[in-house]
Amino acid sequence: MVQNKSVENIIIIGGGPAGLSAALYAARAELSPLVLSGIELGGQAALTERIENYPGFPMGISGAELMELFQENAERFGARVQLETVSSVDFSIRPFYINTQEKQYFAHSVVISTGADPRKLNIPGETELCGRGVSYCATCDGRFFKDKKIAVIGGGDSALEESLLLTRFASSVTVVHRRAELRASAILQKRARENKKIQFVWNSIVESINGAEAVNSISIKNILNGNQTTLPMDGVFIFIGHSPNSDIFKEYLKRDENGYLKTDQHLQTSLPGVFAAGEVADNFYRQVIISAGMGAAAAIEATYYLQNLEL
Ligand code: NAP
Repeated sequence: MVQNKSVENIIIIGGGPAGLSAALYAARAELSPLVLSGIELGGQAALTERIENYPGFPMGISGAELMELFQENAERFGARVQLETVSSVDFSIRPFYINTQEKQYFAHSVVISTGADPRKLNIPGETELCGRGVSYCATCDGRFFKDKKIAVIGGGDSALEESLLLTRFASSVTVVHRRAELRASAILQKRARENKKIQFVWNSIVESINGAEAVNSISIKNILNGNQTTLPMDGVFIFIGHSPNSDIFKEYLKRDENGYLKTDQHLQTSLPGVFAAGEVADNFYRQVIISAGMGAAAAIEATYYLQNLEL
């Protein structure tokens, strides 16, 4: 499609569900897409032990396996995946310039699918017990906590929505919030307050998550009176917001107040030729199937963009 061989038609930054789906669609459009996936392919989805809500896998599939299939599918049609991390870009020039620790690239179009990472509490035990009682995804891990005691950290929509979901499995859900007022919408607050399995611990922060092989308790502190308590728990779900991985683009692309890339209905960012898909541009759904759909759509839009460029 493009005359200059040193310039890629399309570079996809990020190798999670959105990026690999964009790669599949761009490959089938014969654009020979290059995916710069970062050192760990598959994004957050690859860290999910079991995905049971991706259609086509009625018995569920491990996140890592699903992402390997996404990659295989894209590569079959000619996508190239490089485990390189993009460190900077220059979108003020065309073709767009993209720099990784290893190489420099130029591209006529770009799909950004760098995802978002759950915010961490950064307290002792959080990293050590991740996957062994500490989770950032109730949809993914809730069912492992049947008849167990769960603590949910946070007071926003995610914390309450996920708490409500967790009551389907857990014997009790204790929401630990740092203030006495919830940030969540009124309707979720009402539902949570009415749910007999949910209780609240106000004005409290978690100081540590405890356990050797698996979580067995959390240590919390009341920030008004300084009282410290240890609560027995089997699981800790942390929902204190997400951070989209969009910082390296901030000079060139419009973002919302939380750092999510702004796109129009064609998934085009504020810069023509640069598209965004998945959780770097989706602060709401955060599901593999949604990200995959956005990736496909972004690749279709990039294909139209490149066709117009050629004309
Ligand atoms: P959020 O609205 O930013 O809420 C984060 C919560 O975590 C807040 O209650 C915050 O406390 C608390 N928090 C932040 N940092 C903390 C820390 N270091 N230690 C303890 N607590 C901490 O994030 P979100 O709930 O993920 O929602 C993100 C966006 O998605 C929002 O716009 C939300 O409305 C939307 N959303 C909507 C729905 C829905 O409508 N069904 C569902 C999910 C998400 P403070 O309140 O004290 O700041």
